[in-house]
Amino acid sequence: MNIILAKPRGFCAGVTRAIETVEKAIAKFGAPVYVRHEIVHNKFVVESLRQKGAIFVDEVDQIPVGAITIFSAHGVSDRVEEDAVGRGLDVIDATCPLVSKVHREAKKYEEEGCEIILIGHRGHPEVEGTSGRVKKEVILVTDENDARTVEIKNPEKISYVTQTTLSVDDTKKIVEILEKRFPQMHQGMATKDICYATQNRQDAVRDLSKMVDILLVIGAKNSSNSNRLRDLGEECGLKSHLINGAADIDPSWLENVKNIGLTAGASAPEVLVQEVINKIKEISPSDVTVSDMNGITENTFFVLPRKVRK
Ligand code: SF4
Repeated sequence: MNIILAKPRGFCAGVTRAIETVEKAIAKFGAPVYVRHEIVHNKFVVESLRQKGAIFVDEVDQIPVGAITIFSAHGVSDRVEEDAVGRGLDVIDATCPLVSKVHREAKKYEEEGCEIILIGHRGHPEVEGTSGRVKKEVILVTDENDARTVEIKNPEKISYVTQTTLSVDDTKKIVEILEKRFPQMHQGMATKDICYATQNRQDAVRDLSKMVDILLVIGAKNSSNSNRLRDLGEECGLKSHLINGAADIDPSWLENVKNIGLTAGASAPEVLVQEVINKIKEISPSDVTVSDMNGITENTFFVLPRKVRK
């Protein structure tokens, strides 16, 4: 049996920055530090930071006045930011710079007087954060059907932004429908807001799918980019499973399988990849080889928030 590892896979620059922000804040200010929302969507990461002294909360009103407070990589709305300031919290913002870029873009469109369409997944924290960065109500488009039916008050003046972790292919289709219906919509590449890490991991899975019989994606059920990798595997004709880690593997998946593709979402640590490899070696009756596919090497890096830089 052969395991072929996707390249690139796992942590992106935004996730690395967010995790380091929490670690450095604990080292600099002492435990506990409070984190609004899971810092990234991965239970293993959250648990290991909890053990180091992070306390995760859903809302800022659960945080003691004056406490060190970190916003997650997904970003927050203006209201959350204002509530934190009103409560006297000492905020460190670990929002991924690529999410902040989308926030700025949405604000710019608002200042230009546009109605704003947000293409994304309802209820995802990034969508809530981006929606809450503009004063007007944004129009959420979640799929092609929404794109076909959405009503716009002034089709002469609309723009769109997207979640950073969407399916590249699905987003192109949604934008194509919108552009046909609303020719005046601000033009631009459909995938302009989808981040480099999401694009690269999807490209890698597309290539990997030609070499393997099954795809395993390590990632949390609430991780948008991990779900998209699993969906893409299925679209490429592979049985594809999203797993939290080694314990989720059902040995029956590997029966009569020769080549296994293994990838990890942008918030899944490499240690989980190694655990999955070990588990497959335990399960497999034959020798298991492990190799990396040919793929690009990422070198994107984001500086830490100022308060934890030194
Ligand atoms: S997946 Fe993309 S947008 Fe999200 S944290 Fe990583 S680099 Fe930033």
